[in-house]
Amino acid sequence: MSIQLKSLGDEPVSIADDQLNELRMLFRGQLLTAADNGYEEARVVHNAAIDRRPGLIVRCSGTADVVDAVNLARERNLLTAVRGGGHHVAGHCTVDDGVMIDLSAMRSVWVDPVARRVRVQGGATWGEVDREAQLHGLAVPGGVVSTTGVAGLTLGGGIGWLHRKWGLTCDSLRGVEIVTADGKVLRASEKENADLFWGVRGGGGNFGVVTSFDFEAYPLGPIVMCVGVMYPFDTARETFRAWRDWAETTPDEVSSRVIFWWLPDAPTLPPAVRNQHVMIVGAVYAGDPEEGERVLQPARRLATPMADISAQMPFRFFQAAFDPLMPKGKFGAYWKSVYLRELSDDAIDYVAGHGTARLSPLTLVHVPQLGGAISRVGPEETPIGDRDAPYMLSVDGNWADPAQAEAEIAWVRRVVKGAERFSTGGTYLNFGGQEDADVPAAFGGNLRRLAEVKKKYDPLNLFRVNWNIAPA
Ligand code: FAD
Repeated sequence: MSIQLKSLGDEPVSIADDQLNELRMLFRGQLLTAADNGYEEARVVHNAAIDRRPGLIVRCSGTADVVDAVNLARERNLLTAVRGGGHHVAGHCTVDDGVMIDLSAMRSVWVDPVARRVRVQGGATWGEVDREAQLHGLAVPGGVVSTTGVAGLTLGGGIGWLHRKWGLTCDSLRGVEIVTADGKVLRASEKENADLFWGVRGGGGNFGVVTSFDFEAYPLGPIVMCVGVMYPFDTARETFRAWRDWAETTPDEVSSRVIFWWLPDAPTLPPAVRNQHVMIVGAVYAGDPEEGERVLQPARRLATPMADISAQMPFRFFQAAFDPLMPKGKFGAYWKSVYLRELSDDAIDYVAGHGTARLSPLTLVHVPQLGGAISRVGPEETPIGDRDAPYMLSVDGNWADPAQAEAEIAWVRRVVKGAERFSTGGTYLNFGGQEDADVPAAFGGNLRRLAEVKKKYDPLNLFRVNWNIAPA
């Protein structure tokens, strides 16, 4: 018996049983083939529409395993994917018949409360970071679902509930340990391998496998003021305008967004919004909760709400509030986004018109306010091309029945295409759903420099199962 793996050139590469046994002795983590217990579970990713079967899953237990996995992939010329939290909608962490370098067993988090630094292993999720950092009253700006991987989100930028105060997640990155395609373990920071450090702050998984991230953390909470207000659809346009007018007066402590969605019939939700379509206004105040209560009050009175669950609460609870609505491996997904250059009345009418007429109730249409600290970083300081956009539109198509997939994907594409007249022309790849995402549009004038960094650290393009940047 042997396993057949796909090479970078598409020809099969076979690994005989005895060679596989030797590899099993070399690695400390597990090696899983389709014949092994645990394989089926290990190959599941967040998006149920992605059903790939890697030929070999290497469950790394530490940096040494990652080095050996990268060496194995390079020496045998294997098609290789790297898995962090497994959330990417396009399924870039997995590959049919190739090797998956899986970091999901590497999820430790260390906090230095004096230096306000948090070190996070490459397979950790935001829930794990929030848990440890909040113990010390610290936070790293992450995403809005606690099961999302730190790695993919940070490497692609990262927006959440704190971005207007402290910027994109990648803006708080101070260094990484990374295994590059030649199997070397490098440190990258402003002082060491600065070109590589620049690349990983938005350029995705193109340059190597990040085994740990060092973040600057900021004092927050543990109690913060959070807003979650559900407004009815029939007054959505007016409410949306009132939100915009209010949001534009708020200080950087406020990160808020509008979401068109449907809420399930769950006993944890107020009765008035169970099994209802709603326009949610969500916000967090990154500062004193009493002051937050005062500053966020207008967001709770934009119209007559159906329900208002706003409260002062532990930051960590709000961070996990959307988790039950986004279960792993249950729904198919196709997402697409554009940065908005303006949120004019026309743009609001367009977004609200489509937000209130979604095909699938599970689909969400959302508009986070950007600006603040994001726009104080120069467009060339990181690979992220769009720093000035005041808002983003993300259309997150989700469906339970695979028969809906085609219609839903077509709808998402149509809505985003129609929004192009309000957009900067840029896109956010973390919210990109399939191979049709416009990679150059995400990087603008930074693409050439990214290609140079790629050529230096991965000239053969071993790391190509991602939003790929071809080596210059
Ligand atoms: P994976 O699928 O594991 O990986 C994504 C990409 O990163 C792949 O190309 C992979 O090869 C690469 N990669 C992963 N780990 C490593 C590593 N250690 N070293 C090198 N490359 C690696 N984004 C936001 O900005 N804000 C949000 O609030 C947010 N919420 C989300 C909620 C849900 C439910 C989902 C599904 C996604 C959300 N996203 C959000 C998008 C998210 O940022 C991306 O999907 C991101 O890629 C997820 O990272 P991951 O590690 O979980 O993904």
